[in-house]
Amino acid sequence: MIVTMKELLDEANKRNYAVVAPNAWNEDTIKAAIAAAEQEKSPLILALYPVMADIEEFGYVARKFAKESKIPVAIHLDHSDSFNQVIKAIKAGYSSVMVDRSKMPYKENVQEVKEIVKIAHAVGVTVEAELGHVGQGKDYEDTRDSGLTKVDEAVSFVKETQVDCLAVAIGTSHGVYTGDPRIDFDLLKAIKREVNVPLVLHGSSGTGDKNIKRCVEFGINKINLFTDLDLAASDKLIDYVKSKKSIRIVEANDILYNGYKEKLIENMRLVGSNNMI
Ligand SMILES: [Zn+2]
Repeated sequence: MIVTMKELLDEANKRNYAVVAPNAWNEDTIKAAIAAAEQEKSPLILALYPVMADIEEFGYVARKFAKESKIPVAIHLDHSDSFNQVIKAIKAGYSSVMVDRSKMPYKENVQEVKEIVKIAHAVGVTVEAELGHVGQGKDYEDTRDSGLTKVDEAVSFVKETQVDCLAVAIGTSHGVYTGDPRIDFDLLKAIKREVNVPLVLHGSSGTGDKNIKRCVEFGINKINLFTDLDLAASDKLIDYVKSKKSIRIVEANDILYNGYKEKLIENMRLVGSNNMI
């Protein structure tokens, strides 16, 4: 069934676990993610990063499979950077959108998020925004410190925008890290104490199981995931090819999506969303 992200995250916040939001982009990844969630009795946030597929097409396929499923699924637009993308997603039946204006100054970020929250809430769609900035792994050493979320700004941001959940920068980064990840758990604890909406972690891949577990323990309720799923799938295929002289396309497809699914299941167990339905 299709639900909003807010329903899933409020429940996770109450019961102290996180919901995984894997990037999916086609029928195979949508089916693999839903199959993983069904097997684990876990809620799921299917997240489309708009450069990976067409917003309308993804919405159509995701809705079809989410509707047929017994587990609650939110259909989410990840990192949207324009007003038009959000409207397109709302029209295509997404139940939630991320409005990423984290590279903008605080005031502009508030202004744009606030406007979209008003529209989205009017049609029952929930909204995530980002404050501070989670950068790219390749720039980690240069951007980690300057991007960190400020506690007082997080408090006023949530109040002013009425956003449903907040992505925070606490030392993670997107893609593959250069150097070791350094997570500021004290900062996370301080934000969690002061901010009354569920918190989101971007750049979870490569952060390490121990760090992710602690992040959930200290109040993260949504874990965004792509690179680790991507690497797990390709490693599986490479291993298989090494043991064969040739491989059929159908076989390759199955191996890739099984690799994606297995890694997703591992993460659902890690963040404690399994058996929560
Ligand atoms: Zn992200």
